[in-house]
Amino acid sequence: MELVCPAGSMTALKAAVDNGADAVYMGFRDGTNARNFPGLNFDLNEARQGIAYARNRHARVFLAINTYPRPHQWGKWCVAVDQAASLGVDALILADPGLMDYCAQTHPDLRLHLSVQGSATNHEAIDFYVRHFGVQRVVLPRVLSLTQVQNVMKRVNAEVEVFGYGSLCVMVEGRCILSSYVTGDSPNSSGVCSPAKAVKWEESASGRRSRLNGVLIDVYAPEEPAGYPTLCKGRFEVGGKVYYAMEEPTSLNVLDILPDLFRAGVTAIKVEGRQRSPTYVAQVTRTLREAIDACAAGPEKFSPKGAWVEQLDKIAEGRCHTLGAYTRPWQ
Ligand code: SF4
Repeated sequence: MELVCPAGSMTALKAAVDNGADAVYMGFRDGTNARNFPGLNFDLNEARQGIAYARNRHARVFLAINTYPRPHQWGKWCVAVDQAASLGVDALILADPGLMDYCAQTHPDLRLHLSVQGSATNHEAIDFYVRHFGVQRVVLPRVLSLTQVQNVMKRVNAEVEVFGYGSLCVMVEGRCILSSYVTGDSPNSSGVCSPAKAVKWEESASGRRSRLNGVLIDVYAPEEPAGYPTLCKGRFEVGGKVYYAMEEPTSLNVLDILPDLFRAGVTAIKVEGRQRSPTYVAQVTRTLREAIDACAAGPEKFSPKGAWVEQLDKIAEGRCHTLGAYTRPWQ
């Protein structure tokens, strides 16, 4: 299985490549990609340098243009596709079918991957993209159980990439409107969930409060680690109780099911986190590289090393991990 790692900056790209990523994924510095945060991403010149750095070290570069263009900005997304083609990226990660059509017509030799934002969860949906646009790889949303992934794998006619580590986005991906409901900016069209300009921290007698556009997301006790205020991971009062009503802040980690994914024929394991630091990217890449290689050498005898779990938990959200939707004991 390939290891596909996040490159939110040039230093993160180098950290991923130097620590064993088979491929990195990046975006342009605007709302055409779903991680449009200040200080992240690449302009054309940096993208060119990043691609050269990766190529010289035998790593591939995918470029995400995975937000949905608004009608009046259609041209901007097409320009991004043209620029990616001129850079010679190894694949484009797209979500919008119109943009895929544009790319298939205009740059027929450019390899297409269906973004997680495309939310294709069954083989019929995936076949649609393969048939109409020649999509060669699909990134599965993080809402499928392992059994569902295995079932998709039996029938699908494209490479499959699944998330292996990082923050969870619990809604049907590409369709979450929580952020736009509260801030007016959505991950789906402007590439940002919880835009930094809407985030506010306040000290209060009850603890440190985080707000998003005035909406209280959480209150942290004095020594409690505070996460970035994301609506799906806030503690809210429901029925008189305050708790993580939608999702607990924790990181996905598939070490326990790596052999199952390998045997199912999954092509690539993806690491979430273009917003993360180069140190984080280096640590996750190094650990998963070791784990994937060990799994490929002997899936039957593979068992996650305690040190790998410990290293990944240290940098995980809430310092703990989950298999997320992969495990559904009640099903
Ligand atoms: S609010 Fe949560 S579920 Fe919605 S896009 Fe943001 S991270 Fe994903």
